[in-house]
Amino acid sequence: MVLPIVAIIGRPNVGKSTIVNRLSSATDAIVHDEPGVTRDRTYRQAFWQDRDYLVVDTGGLIFNDDTEFLPLIREQVMAALAEASVAVLVVDGQTGPMPADQEIADWLRQHPVPVLLAVNKCESPQQGIIQASQFWELGLGEPFPVSGIHGSGTGELLDQLITYLPGVDTLTDVPETRVAIVGRPNVGKSSLLNALTGENRSIVSSISGTTRDAIDMLVERPGDPEKGIESKNYRLIDTAGIRKKKSVEYGPEFFGINRAFKAIRRSDVVLLVIDALDGVTEQDQKLAGRIAEEGRAAVIVVNKWDAIEKDSNTIYEYQKTIQDRLYFVEWAQMIFVSALTGQRAEKILDLVDAAAFEHQRRVTTSVINEVLQEAVSWHSPPTNRQGRQGKIYYGTQVTSQPPTIALFVNEPKRFNDNYRRYIERQFRQQLGFTGTPVRLLWRGKKSRDLDDAQINTNRATRV
Ligand code: GDP
Ligand code: GDP
Repeated sequence: MVLPIVAIIGRPNVGKSTIVNRLSSATDAIVHDEPGVTRDRTYRQAFWQDRDYLVVDTGGLIFNDDTEFLPLIREQVMAALAEASVAVLVVDGQTGPMPADQEIADWLRQHPVPVLLAVNKCESPQQGIIQASQFWELGLGEPFPVSGIHGSGTGELLDQLITYLPGVDTLTDVPETRVAIVGRPNVGKSSLLNALTGENRSIVSSISGTTRDAIDMLVERPGDPEKGIESKNYRLIDTAGIRKKKSVEYGPEFFGINRAFKAIRRSDVVLLVIDALDGVTEQDQKLAGRIAEEGRAAVIVVNKWDAIEKDSNTIYEYQKTIQDRLYFVEWAQMIFVSALTGQRAEKILDLVDAAAFEHQRRVTTSVINEVLQEAVSWHSPPTNRQGRQGKIYYGTQVTSQPPTIALFVNEPKRFNDNYRRYIERQFRQQLGFTGTPVRLLWRGKKSRDLDDAQINTNRATRV
């Protein structure tokens, strides 16, 4: 197979070699004999997610000292660009745009190859955005702040980069549920991953230890044609493996909460793993808060259940305590498992399926307004001191993942938290949404706007 090529270009000292090293990990072979590549250039193998590519630093081809970009040697870069699927122009965020950057950008714009703009040496995220924004003037589109030295920002750049690589990745065509496995160190994330994948583990996707925060594992769960169950695909995002690799550096108790946050962001459903022996800690609460904030579905997995002495009440007591402490995700289902013995582990994916389904669910405007009508009849909206009452005109689901319902009302501030919670509870009681957060948007609407609004959502009924 011929691998696609990514050309790195830029004036001297902007950090091209540093970025090339960052993209291709130190152990990657330098390639000289890949079919279809020119022998006299140095290509390094690299990968991002499940895409492999070759990266070539064109710096050495054109600049042997700090002189300007010479026309003659451009021929060399031309040849490199001709075989590249995408070019990355590296610039220096600390110096800001230089005439040579503009010159290369102008030249690149005349070529058909897509160009991404990496603004290097942006170690500080806040500063980085400002530093990068100066480079809009190069006319190459969005500048990506990165740090070749620290690795920050390279993920965003690479996410974009792989979209330009040719060849269809058959794996991404298959619908998959993205499941992040998060929790404190030693709660049993890796053990659970093993229990979940087991014999079905099909593909371990490529990872580059330098740029990735999590390991993705693709798992196919076979269907059962006799029962009409289709096979399903899951992408399990595990944050434990990387920590283990780095534990030498960080110490075994290192808890990379930012890695967990990133995994949550990439997921559809989060498995929040709790250690039954330790119960819910502050770190678990932080993770729960983030799951709700990001609007992800969740399943609470209470692991090491084998190690608990139980009587017939134990499970209910645990359930109550955990739910109280994890109030951010009180809508999530809870399952008590043992990754060690495998007890109930296979049920986890059933709960994931259910949560993913609810996360994507859409409810018609008429059903939403029926629920509202009922709710308001039982318990009318509060009245302010001037005697003016809150009015809900109608509601409609505006989006899913998570389900988000806009409520059009006379004045949002007339609806206090108590009443808002009451309405949310009604939606949950009537419509389910188990396993997913639900968002309610309280939108003020003047009554003269309302006729239009009602025409646009013609199934809406006034509440
Ligand atoms: P090249 O000539 O474009 O290949 O640049 P190098 O990779 O050799 O880097 C040039 C200089 O910039 C070196 O001193 C690097 O240490 C420094 N450098 C590279 N990347 C970064 C970065 O992300 N941040 C900072 N602060 N310095 C960097
Ligand atoms: P991670 O750091 O979250 O990935 O946790 P590990 O999967 O590495 O597990 C940490 C420790 O807990 C290991 O010693 C496991 O053997 C143990 N462990 C994991 N799951 C269970 C379980 O279900 N029951 C018991 N008793 N121990 C478990």
